[in-house]
Amino acid sequence: MIIFGWRVVFFTLGKGVFHCPQCGGDREYRRRQGRNFFTLFFIPVLPLNKTGGEIVECGTCRGRWAPGVLEVPTTAQLAHMPAMLLRMAIAQVLRSGDYTHAPARSRAVAVVRQAGETGYDESALNADLGRPFDEVRREMSRASSALAPEARESILRAAAEIALMDGPLSVSEQDTLGAVGADLELTRVQITGVVSLARQASGH
Ligand SMILES: [Zn+2]
Repeated sequence: MIIFGWRVVFFTLGKGVFHCPQCGGDREYRRRQGRNFFTLFFIPVLPLNKTGGEIVECGTCRGRWAPGVLEVPTTAQLAHMPAMLLRMAIAQVLRSGDYTHAPARSRAVAVVRQAGETGYDESALNADLGRPFDEVRREMSRASSALAPEARESILRAAAEIALMDGPLSVSEQDTLGAVGADLELTRVQITGVVSLARQASGH
């Protein structure tokens, strides 16, 4: 007697660390894709069609999710987010003005260090200034949704203060602050409020 049938076999496409909704913490995952196999005596012998889409499987609880679960920031990423966002916000604003202005540059480095990145220095700032604009904007909007509005406002405030160090805001600096505020998911009213407070404080 020949016993035949079919079953789903999963292939691993990639690995990483994600926030597992079931474990409630950072766990290793495997990104997998299922494929139907024709089986003979319970052994998969012939690949058939792919089943559904990719899934993400937790290495600890074996829970399975759609790949969208990878968009949720991990605890480790969250811990670095405010400093990371601050870096990107500051770099964008600096780039739109006089990024060689020494006091603005050293203030930028000091602020990022205060936020917890104690190793941040001039060469790290130069690297941030050289990052592709699209990449920065994507990362910012991904990271922003995880932060409270007050934290996002304080990031914009720090960027505005740095932009104001070389004098009144230029049109391009104002535009950039508006764009950074939007990437931080702040409303127009919030952005205007934060920027005007920074202006008053700086006297420009
Ligand atoms: Zn899990």
